[in-house]
Amino acid sequence: MTDLTSLTIAAARDQLKARTISATELTEAYLSAIDSANGALNAYIAVTPDKARAMAKASDERLASGKAGALEGIPLGIKDLFATEGEHTQACSHILDGFKPRYESTVTANLWKDGAVMLGKLNMDEFAMGSSNESSWYGPVVNPWRARGSEEKLVPGGSSGGSAAAVAARLCAAATATDTGGSIRQPAAFTGTVGIKPTYGRCSRWGIAAFASSLDQAGPIARDVRDCAIMLKSMASVDKMDTTSVDLPVPDYEAALGKSLKGRKIGIPREYRVDGMPGEIEALWQQGIAWLKDAGAEIVDISLPHTKYALPAYYIVAPAEASSNLARYDGVRYGLRVDGKDIADMYEKTRAAGFGKEVKRRIMIGTYVLSAGYYDAYYIKAQKVRTLIKRDFELAFHAGVDAILTPATPSSAFAIGDKELAADPVKMYLNDIFTVTVNMAGLPGMAIPAGLDPKGLPLGLQLIGKPFEEETLFTVADVIEKAAGTFTPSKWW
Ligand code: GLN
Repeated sequence: MTDLTSLTIAAARDQLKARTISATELTEAYLSAIDSANGALNAYIAVTPDKARAMAKASDERLASGKAGALEGIPLGIKDLFATEGEHTQACSHILDGFKPRYESTVTANLWKDGAVMLGKLNMDEFAMGSSNESSWYGPVVNPWRARGSEEKLVPGGSSGGSAAAVAARLCAAATATDTGGSIRQPAAFTGTVGIKPTYGRCSRWGIAAFASSLDQAGPIARDVRDCAIMLKSMASVDKMDTTSVDLPVPDYEAALGKSLKGRKIGIPREYRVDGMPGEIEALWQQGIAWLKDAGAEIVDISLPHTKYALPAYYIVAPAEASSNLARYDGVRYGLRVDGKDIADMYEKTRAAGFGKEVKRRIMIGTYVLSAGYYDAYYIKAQKVRTLIKRDFELAFHAGVDAILTPATPSSAFAIGDKELAADPVKMYLNDIFTVTVNMAGLPGMAIPAGLDPKGLPLGLQLIGKPFEEETLFTVADVIEKAAGTFTPSKWW
């Protein structure tokens, strides 16, 4: 028999429906894969075997009675940022020690309603702040990919590093993730997986620990484009608990695969060619352009002139919102409490002990840019820049562009503990140079693996679409995937 963990969601779905495999067998295969791999990879910070087995059993009963949902019996990993009732939900922060919510996030509730099985909670950067998964209270995640001939441990990207590593290493069929500035797309690019950040408002944010509320969106990381389409269909919904979720029908994203690119215009933004970008990234981009041209798309040069301001503006807007959102962790309501001589002292001690270095840095920056005297100079200015960035995209789409193709990241995965990056947070922030603009404009963005660099590490391309036109991204991504193939790390763990 083939290894059950090698089945894509689409393949497993067919076999489950045909009843040639059971949800219980599939779940057991993943639980034992996690058991043998997690010590080396640290992708899961909590495994929920009892819950997984009970959910799989219920799935098998529904499959037997012909009442299967769209994800019936499919075992998934859930980023620790999503509230899961009665289960570990700590945003990988010390400050949420022991917190188990009494409610379920809307996105995960949608997945369970469609029959998916929960395997456990996935590692991530603390409160989704980071690009390497090194800011987690639970320690770094190890990328299942290694450079050719090397045993050096690489990061899987962040903040959804556990999600990306678990998908790449076959420790779940797919995973939930979130993206505030690149946290779905950058880890997908670093691990040879596919990730989509849908349009702001496509998925409900209810029950997802807030980082920067105007930028945060949930989305899937999966092994291929089709699986990503299947996942997003189940995750997306309007929700009365999130007034920014949008009441639009959720299309059948799978139906967008296999469509022609004839008559479609793909924009190539000249500002995404940054100084010091390695030659292999430029080559990958050119290769992507050639594939789309071959498939009948028209390639047009476009300009997004405010791109260079996106990262600095993001690092004002995101910390500002984070400093406000994270004010709720005060030792009274959730998780950790460090007692003090009075209540103010208790707050201070709890927050000093509970938050890690990167989170503290964001809170300090956020409170600074929101403080009287600096608010107009920084926060309001950044909001204005944000509007200009959004307008750049609107002009391109208005001129007839259907989607935009860019590299996903300026490099492949780097080493855990990279000294240069650890010493200079701005260098780490530069990882998101190609992805943050998309969050600032609220647009859908997708990362698709497109090749390997000279070291044998995966590289991704990014597609950016019009609001609520994720289907176009799936159509174009499918063409890239058919040309590039899919990418699996060789097993060493
Ligand atoms: N790396 C970016 C940051 O640290 C984006 C994180 C994210 O998308 N959650 O803020």
